[in-house]
Formats: sequence, structure tokens, C-alpha cells
Amino acid sequence: MIAICATMVSNSDSGGRVLNERKGPIGKVWLVGAGPGDPDLLTLRAARLLLSAGLVVHDGLVDPSILAMARPSARLVSVAKSRSRHTMKQEEINALLVREALAGHDVVRLKGGDPFIFGRGGEEAEACKAAGVPVEVVPGITSALGAAAAAQIPLTHRDHASIVTFVAGQCKGLSDQDWSGLAGKGRTLVIFMGVATAGDISDKLMADGLAPDVPVAVVEKATRNDMRVLRGPLAGLADLVESERVQSPALIVIGHVAAEADNTIRALALEAVQ
Ligand code: SAH
Repeated sequence: MIAICATMVSNSDSGGRVLNERKGPIGKVWLVGAGPGDPDLLTLRAARLLLSAGLVVHDGLVDPSILAMARPSARLVSVAKSRSRHTMKQEEINALLVREALAGHDVVRLKGGDPFIFGRGGEEAEACKAAGVPVEVVPGITSALGAAAAAQIPLTHRDHASIVTFVAGQCKGLSDQDWSGLAGKGRTLVIFMGVATAGDISDKLMADGLAPDVPVAVVEKATRNDMRVLRGPLAGLADLVESERVQSPALIVIGHVAAEADNTIRALALEAVQ
């Protein structure tokens, strides 16, 4: 059993409280990675900050069991995004963080996985810095690593892969991106946000010369209680996603190592080590 200290990390670690133009103390923003879902995969620093935060601004990927760790008196603000429904635009999120910090509040900005892997953490950090708000980044276990571990897919393997690439399957200018060479012999390709575009992705990769029988694994809701691991060949990716009704969040792993995915695993074993 690990005791987690509930003392908020003080602002003095960034050189003392900073004064804004109104000569009042301003708050600090922590961009905190919440990991892939299972609360046991939070870092100790993330857990400590969450336990002590007065204000938590979180997105939709953060598991409810993690949010439940916040103090009952904490203000929880959801800025949840989904592909079809943007509850808050990125500029509005940036403005919210800055506004709260300038008003003197410390803000724990909780994001799924790692804040700097497809998490727009870079944009939020830039906005804070531009406004003179101190910002600190607490890394989280990105879902790519969480999903690979949970599904027992070794992203690198001396016999199969020595290069790993993370790509976004849903991003600005996807069709213009050159993915040739990112997957294939000796390589593992991990695709975030690829469920809706799975068919386009497999077509694109095969057009670039990737063999239709290259192994693919889809890890849905990795490390959560309802996690699923699915396997198949690249040519069958779109059918697999459709017939199994794969839901977001899910990751697609393409490459030889995907054949090692354990599709009998339904959830992480949560038993404590004796
Ligand atoms: N910052 C996050 C990624 C945000 S982008 C990270 O480091 O993991 C959102 C995408 O992450 C989802 O569309 C999905 O592809 C992936 N993702 C996040 N959590 C996941 C989970 N528990 N299982 C599978 N994929 C997940």
C-alpha cells in the first residue's frame, strides 16, 4: 500500500509565487497525464496533484474512476471532446486555463494518456506561457504504451521491430501525409484516432506497398474493465472494425508484433501482488 501525500506541490518550485499586473498572486497550471484508464497507472505525482487540486479541468478520455479521486470539494470542469461534438474549442480551453490561473487558482489540467502525445498539451503550454502563467507538465503513460502492455504486444522485439512510429489517423491534412515506409519489415506503426478512418488507413498503407496479410491488432478501451483486443490481417481491418463495432478510444497496431497480441485478455489483472 502506498500512502499518497495530499499536499499540493507549492508554486515555490518555480521560484516563488509570481505576481501578475494586478499585483495579486497568480496560479499555476499543471498539464497532467492521466494514463490510459486504469487508475493504478497514474504516476504518483498525478495522483498527488489530483488528491489536492481545487480545480480540475479534464477531457472526456479521463476515466471516471480517476476523477473520483479528486476531493469532494474540488471543482471539476469537463471540456470533453468527441469527433462529432466539441463541447469546448481549443482556444476556449486555453483561455479558461489562463483565466483561472490569472484569477489566482491553481489548475490541474488532466488529459488522457500523456499530455504531449496527440493531447494538444503543447498548445495549452504555449498559451499559458504567452500569458505569463507558470506551467508544469506531468507525463502520463500514453495509451500506445498502456495498450501494448495490456494486450501483450511488444512494440519492439529483437526479431521483429526496432522502429516504432506513432501517427494520428484523424488529423489536419491526413490525405496529404506521406506514410510510405512507416510500416513494414522491422517496423511497428501505432495509429491513434484511427477507428473512423480504418478503411482509408489500410487502403493507404497497401497502396504504399504494405502486404495485405501484415498482422494488425486493435486495442479498444485499453486497461479499462471493458477492454477488447482484436486481431486480423491488414486487408481485413475495415471489416474487423465494422463487424466488431469497435468503439473509440481504440488504437491500431500494425506490424509483425501485432500477431503476438493476446486476444483472450479482457481486462488487466488488477490483483495486488502478494
Ligand atoms: N494523449 C493521449 C492520446 C489522445 S488522442 C495518449 O497519450 O494516449 C485520443 C486517442 O488516443 C484515441 O482516439 C485512441 O486512439 C487513443 N486512446 C486513448 N486512450 C485509449 C485507451 N484507453 N485505449 C485505446 N486507445 C486509447
